[in-house]
Amino acid sequence: MGIYQSKKHPNIAILGGGMAGLSSGYYAKKKGLHFKIYESNNRIGGNSVTLKHGDFLFDLGAHRFHDQDEEVTKEIKVLLGENLKKLYVPSQIYHNGRFIDFPLSPFNLMKNMGLRPFSKAVVDVGSSRLRKRETNGSFEEFALHTYGKTLAEIFLLNYSEKLWGVSCDRLSPEIAGKRMKGLNLRTFLVEAILGQKAKTKHLDGSFYYPEMGIGTIAKKMGEFSGKDNILINSKITKIFHNSNRIEAIEVNGQERIDTDEVISSLPLNLLLNIMEPSPSKEILTLAKGLRYRNVILVALFLNKESVTKAATVYFPGSGFPFARIYEPKNRSKAMSPPGKTSLVAEIPSQQEDEIWGLEDEKLIESVCSKFAQIGWIREDEIIDATVNRIYYAYPILEIGFEEKVQEINSFLKGFSNLKVSGRNGRFRYAWIHDMVRYGKEIIEEYA
Ligand SMILES: Cc1cc2nc3c(=O)[nH]c(=O)nc-3n(C[C@H](O)[C@H](O)[C@H](O)COP(=O)(O)OP(=O)(O)OC[C@H]3O[C@@H](n4cnc5c(N)ncnc54)[C@H](O)[C@@H]3O)c2cc1C
Repeated sequence: MGIYQSKKHPNIAILGGGMAGLSSGYYAKKKGLHFKIYESNNRIGGNSVTLKHGDFLFDLGAHRFHDQDEEVTKEIKVLLGENLKKLYVPSQIYHNGRFIDFPLSPFNLMKNMGLRPFSKAVVDVGSSRLRKRETNGSFEEFALHTYGKTLAEIFLLNYSEKLWGVSCDRLSPEIAGKRMKGLNLRTFLVEAILGQKAKTKHLDGSFYYPEMGIGTIAKKMGEFSGKDNILINSKITKIFHNSNRIEAIEVNGQERIDTDEVISSLPLNLLLNIMEPSPSKEILTLAKGLRYRNVILVALFLNKESVTKAATVYFPGSGFPFARIYEPKNRSKAMSPPGKTSLVAEIPSQQEDEIWGLEDEKLIESVCSKFAQIGWIREDEIIDATVNRIYYAYPILEIGFEEKVQEINSFLKGFSNLKVSGRNGRFRYAWIHDMVRYGKEIIEEYA
């Protein structure tokens, strides 16, 4: 027996209460549709959340809200009002004991690399563009061709391998996505040749950020959607289908709930694996080939006013377990109590990696020793530390992933009442504003 009665409006089951699920709920509410969001965790927001540790706040990863979709930005501005601030906080890259500005600025780079390596980098950038491009379609080939050997090796190849856990000759150029904006080649050359006076407009250090952390966006969307429409601690364990329609979902392995429409933001492979009857062996094999990256987050709370001025500091070097760190206070003062600050390190890894299995104490020790080595902290400044493990942090975009996703999508399109959203749900390297856009577009499809 279903929990819904009305047949006038579609009864929509939204699977997952991250930004994708919440955005669908938000627009469904605006349209007056009947819906329920099912979230397995005891809180909403998925990976876009802000956690509290004593008097400190920190996000589950170095989040910012990017102003990339005018309509979405406008919507979020209205939803958050005064809480949303526009910031300009550039980042840095740690290389050979020095902090290099990111987005890259030739003058800063020259100062930190030295004139010779810098000149080589500039020549490399030019000559790599003139060389005929190899065609194995990998990120490595793309990076070498676009940025030249020197810059690619220092800033891109090591970092990307650390981030994705896959060698760059197996990664798709799609990973470049919006991450490369700070390595704008045209800007780089114009400034290198014409000098600092020609300093082009770097927009990449600017972003929006809510006063009380990125999780405010999810929180406000949840409030708008209505408490009664959100079911936390509700894990979807089966999706029953018949005659090309999803008929019902199973929650927590117990309750069967009939549904008219389904919007799934569950990771794509999970969705396929809980379908009943099971999809074909071919589809399940394709799903198995789609892998996700996990991230370990080590947060240190410090009795110290400030450590860095950067939004994020990237660590491409293999001598550091973390790929990047951020200081929440540099996004909003409210993230730390007065006179104190915090640092959060992101360690990308897979479940089978040794580091994933390390005890929290060992992880904290390893991060602390690296921070001490850089000269950032002293032992007596550490108030506390905590470790969070993020599963399904991002999809790993290996060469050929598009074809797999396309085939899976053709199979899923066969279900007349199923729509798919989400970063892991669509297996795309997408952002919060994309989640909002997906939600808007999906809900527009309902009459
Ligand atoms: C370290 C890091 C940094 C990032 N930085 C930025 C940034 O600066 N700017 C930006 O725009 N984006 C950033 N992102 C991306 C952003 O977090 C994602 O785009 C967004 O969170 C994706 O939302 P989602 O709803 O698709 O997925 P998720 O956030 O993963 O939400 C999925 C939800 O589904 C739930 N779920 C899973 N299985 C089940 C089940 N069986 N039943 C019910 N519920 C289930 C999960 O608990 C989760 O709440 C970052 C991500 C990470 C990991």
